[in-house]
Amino acid sequence: MKKGKIIILSAPSGCGKSTIIAEVIKDTALKLEFSISATNREPRRGETDGVNYYFLSTEDFKKAIDSDSLVEYEEVYPGRFYGTLKSEIARICADGNNAILDIDVKGALNVKKLYGDDALALFIMPPSIDTLRHRLLSRGTESVDAINQRVGKAEYEISFASQFDRTVVNDVLIDAINETHDIIAEFINK
Ligand code: 5GP
Repeated sequence: MKKGKIIILSAPSGCGKSTIIAEVIKDTALKLEFSISATNREPRRGETDGVNYYFLSTEDFKKAIDSDSLVEYEEVYPGRFYGTLKSEIARICADGNNAILDIDVKGALNVKKLYGDDALALFIMPPSIDTLRHRLLSRGTESVDAINQRVGKAEYEISFASQFDRTVVNDVLIDAINETHDIIAEFINK
């Protein structure tokens, strides 16, 4: 049986990362399994423990750090921790599958450093900052202030893009899905 590989996807918020992951995972030939992260943030409506995240109390998250149970973790927002559990990667790879991680830029680059050639770090990019701003505005779910904050964060995240193995620009969604799929397929079959 082939050893499982690690595929890491990062993107600024609003770049279609979750949709791309959901579509690519559907190709069972790729044997991708989503790595469920641990977090101390509250579940949102519709989210389930053990499906979207392992929702931990802050105390339990700290215990996970202290017991060296995490591959990496980051304080993505003030007071909000997110981390990849060693047990999650081990579980996925033991089943002969490849782990797909949806994590922030710093976590992504840390995982890449740890796993080297066994990992692929992929960055999903908006066609431009202006397009991203328009997409977020047209969702209509957030205030202009919140959108400005997200755009500022996106610019910061994009500054890390050159450190990733590959970059996919999400201009036309279906093209971005296909391109991501093909990059992952090539990496897995290498
Ligand atoms: P959300 O709260 O919207 O689900 O996620 C916020 C951010 O946390 C996203 O950018 C997501 O990629 C990142 N994230 C989720 N899980 C992990 C993880 O295990 N490690 C790191 N470093 N970031 C994560």
